[in-house]
Amino acid sequence: MSPTQLPSRGEYAQQWRAAGGKVCAAFPAQYPKELLWSHGVLPMEVWDPPLAPARAQGHLQPYICSVVRQGLELLLAGGMDEVGAILFPHTCDSLQNLASLVDDYLEAPAPSLFFYNPKAPFAAAAKGFYVSQLQALEKDLTLIFGPQPMGAMEQAMEWSRKLSDLYAQSYDRRAAGELGVSAVEFYRVLRGGEYLHPQDYIPLLQAWLDQAPTTNGNSGPAVMLSGVLPGPPDLLDTLDGLGLRVVHDDLISMSRRLLYPPPGAGDPFMALADCFLAMPPCSTRGSSLDERLAWLKDLARKSGAQGVVFSVVKFCEPELFDLPELRRGLKEAGLASLVLEVDVNQEVGGQAATRLEAFGEMLS
Ligand code: SF4
Repeated sequence: MSPTQLPSRGEYAQQWRAAGGKVCAAFPAQYPKELLWSHGVLPMEVWDPPLAPARAQGHLQPYICSVVRQGLELLLAGGMDEVGAILFPHTCDSLQNLASLVDDYLEAPAPSLFFYNPKAPFAAAAKGFYVSQLQALEKDLTLIFGPQPMGAMEQAMEWSRKLSDLYAQSYDRRAAGELGVSAVEFYRVLRGGEYLHPQDYIPLLQAWLDQAPTTNGNSGPAVMLSGVLPGPPDLLDTLDGLGLRVVHDDLISMSRRLLYPPPGAGDPFMALADCFLAMPPCSTRGSSLDERLAWLKDLARKSGAQGVVFSVVKFCEPELFDLPELRRGLKEAGLASLVLEVDVNQEVGGQAATRLEAFGEMLS
């Protein structure tokens, strides 16, 4: 599959709705997509809609991150008028405040759904709490979209297992230097999972992996990305253009939630809770710095990354809080790092390109 064959979010949503499909807008980051699939609902994730600033800034403090701002911008611009529900996972305080703003003070175009993840360190009650949240969401989904058809949850779990395997293959092959695609292509294809239904996305991802070359001749310095998103859009172009090889990532929107273990057989809610508890460490799940640092060092060891580029969204409190200690620990481990504070959809520009070039030269 060539990445150009991926339909755009807008095209796909239109086709899905035209065929009578149901849609739920899903804010970042982690939520049990299997439950939505089992109700025949397509989650359309809202990370960085490309809209010019307009009405959202009138509702938010100036120090709120651009992920929240752009999500609200989409809602206010009518981009969620046709969805059946809007899901707010409890990822961070900013998203929690957005959920209250939308649900309590604005005329939301669709009912709000809430999903509260337990935070680390996970005590004995965490699994039961996660299951109780799944049960509450299941009840709300049934009220809004109707009951799950017979066998739909089993099918959703099967899709989830398959995706877990394909994501792991994508990351493992890249880390081993056996996936010869650019960073632009890698992330364009993997971000397809933010809006494509698994019945369409699984065959596309499988075909892409089957057809992808094993090398692209790039032997430049190897870096890992950390932060929130593989963006802004020109960041990946800049990295590819400078010959910097992105060999792994520790991004909230990517490996921190895509590299989940395949859900086991048996009770689906217990299996989903086990998956959640075994996800990679993340600032938004309250993971300790020690755990995050050990994880980053292990990713670098497995992939041969020589340095880490942190693409941190401005005002992202969870990420910015961890950053100084992570950088200090990486330095002690011999791993250089570079921090870019970015706004989603705002180009990193020439100054960042110069800094990345100098970073690459230092690693060479
Ligand atoms: S970028 Fe950071 S602050 Fe903003 S929604 Fe994501 S986790 Fe929350």
